[in-house]
Amino acid sequence: MRIAFRLAAVVLAFVILLIDTLSTVEGAVAVLYVMVVLLAARTYRRVDIVWASIGCAALTLLAYVDSHGFNHVGAQTIRAAVSLSAIGGTALLALQHQYATNKLAAQARLLNLSHDMIFVRDNAGFITFWNRSAEEVYGWSSREAVGRVADDLLGTRYPEQRSSIEAALLSTGRWEGMLEQRTKAGATLFVESRWVVQCDHLKRPVEVMETHTDVTDRKVAYAALVASERRFRRMFDASRIGVVQESWSALRAELVALNLLDGDALRTYLASHPEFVGRARTLVNIVDVNPALLTMLHRDPTVPFDALESVDDMLSEGDRTFSSALISFARGDTFLEGETEMVRADGSRFPVLFTITYPTVDDADGTVLVFVVDNTERKQAQSALLASQAELAHATRVATLGELTASIAHEVNQPLMAVVTSGEAGMRWLKRPVPDLHEVETAMGRIISEGRRASEIVKRIRAFLMKAPTQRDVLSSAALIDEAIRLVEYECSREQVMLRLDIEPGLPAIVGDRIQLQQVLVNLMVNACQAMAGQTAARVLSIQARRASVSSLVISVRDTGPGIAAENLDRLFDPFFTTKQQGMGMGLAICRTTAQAHGGELSIVNSPGGGASFQLTLAVLPDGVDQS
Ligand code: ADP
Repeated sequence: MRIAFRLAAVVLAFVILLIDTLSTVEGAVAVLYVMVVLLAARTYRRVDIVWASIGCAALTLLAYVDSHGFNHVGAQTIRAAVSLSAIGGTALLALQHQYATNKLAAQARLLNLSHDMIFVRDNAGFITFWNRSAEEVYGWSSREAVGRVADDLLGTRYPEQRSSIEAALLSTGRWEGMLEQRTKAGATLFVESRWVVQCDHLKRPVEVMETHTDVTDRKVAYAALVASERRFRRMFDASRIGVVQESWSALRAELVALNLLDGDALRTYLASHPEFVGRARTLVNIVDVNPALLTMLHRDPTVPFDALESVDDMLSEGDRTFSSALISFARGDTFLEGETEMVRADGSRFPVLFTITYPTVDDADGTVLVFVVDNTERKQAQSALLASQAELAHATRVATLGELTASIAHEVNQPLMAVVTSGEAGMRWLKRPVPDLHEVETAMGRIISEGRRASEIVKRIRAFLMKAPTQRDVLSSAALIDEAIRLVEYECSREQVMLRLDIEPGLPAIVGDRIQLQQVLVNLMVNACQAMAGQTAARVLSIQARRASVSSLVISVRDTGPGIAAENLDRLFDPFFTTKQQGMGMGLAICRTTAQAHGGELSIVNSPGGGASFQLTLAVLPDGVDQS
């Protein structure tokens, strides 16, 4: 294009020169050189303008000298001078224009470098400039966009009345806001828009430059975030599970400062500094609690939770789970589950199940979420279940003793008979002409000791039949076995069953309910005696107790009876399973429940030599715990 202009300029200059020198117009044509300069100016190159104007001036002078020489000054001289000044003036204006155009082009190039979509529109809204980003993002080329009304082209939707935006723009000279626009392809864009007014020298607005940043992705991500936040808020507010949002960042900072952000280190530290748990509780900051939790605490769910200043307002003083939670946090666990008691506004306590979820290390705000479920109803159901189990166990104890009535009667009768015999002997010694008081004293002594024996038997039976809430005592396993044997030994001897005892010395203590565990052993032994009743083969009942592992011991009750039929093995512990005519079938079912309630198990194996062998496994206390 540039070459075409240059060529045209040269040709035009040549034509003018010919006309100027050959025609009779004489110098008047020279003014047409202005057109040559203007043509050269279309190349927008300073050097072209300068050379064109020098060339035209030279040609004007050449034509003048050629036709008039140097001596003649007249009207032609004036015409030549006018032509020269027209050429010079035009050249100057062209240079000025070229400078301004270059400057503008440089500015436009800068605007094209921007990632933002920039366009300029005049007062009527017609687009006069459209940068490269606008072309790329909106899809219209500069040629398509320039001359169109911006709002129509982009289908712009404003957050408020267009007229009030325009008013604000005119009063302050600028405006900022979020707009919705449409691309050529029909996609919707969300843009952050900044407008600036450009005024002329009389301060009248002439143009508005609009700069737009595409924030569609950001807006969509933000909208998703808001939706997600709203969803979680709804879960938080509407959940029937109590939720406490806490910040543990201060606590974490303290642990870091004390070099205790390590499970083992913190455990050791807490052993020597138990008071730290109290301090740690004060470092936990309650951020939010949901209405379900406030309802659990008997606080008004419509009143802000600010009354809850620290976890001390919710957790009882004797709570032990907080120290476990601390250790778990220091160890870097992701969550902790457990049971504890919480305190209501009126100071009453209630049992809860909780789950604590800890923040990950990169979670700077240290948010800990605690989920709480009121466990009162479950606990009540559990204690009702325990109570009915205890009732049932009691009923079976009564039934078991019912089966032992003959033995018991016999056992009690024996000392009573001895009392009567000794009483009669004493009487006889008294009735002698010379009473032998020494013999009387001996007889009285026997009466007392036999009476005591009878009383002991009755006491033992009464204790066995006692209805008492479940106890958790530290028990010596050897003593437990001994007491159970005493209740059945008479039955054994009556049934001619030989008792064999093999108790490993120094067995560790166990924790549990003495009567319930006695009942298990008595039941197993009575069943064994009954299984062997009437058989001609040797009747041997072996009780063996030994340590099974660091944490458990096994008491086995083995007989030499017929054993358990293979088809009955699976349902032996089912309630109401019995093979006896008068049997209730609850004995073994209760024995297993009792064993499990004590953290143990009851199982059966048929002994290789015949007979049944029941294994009662029980958890033991760590060595060194006092068994008294
Ligand atoms: P019950 O004694 O009222 O039948 P249990 O639950 O104590 O109820 O026992 C269930 C059944 O298990 C008994 O009826 C019996 O068939 C079987 N059983 C229990 N102990 C033995 C044993 N030592 N030898 C053989 N069978 C046994």
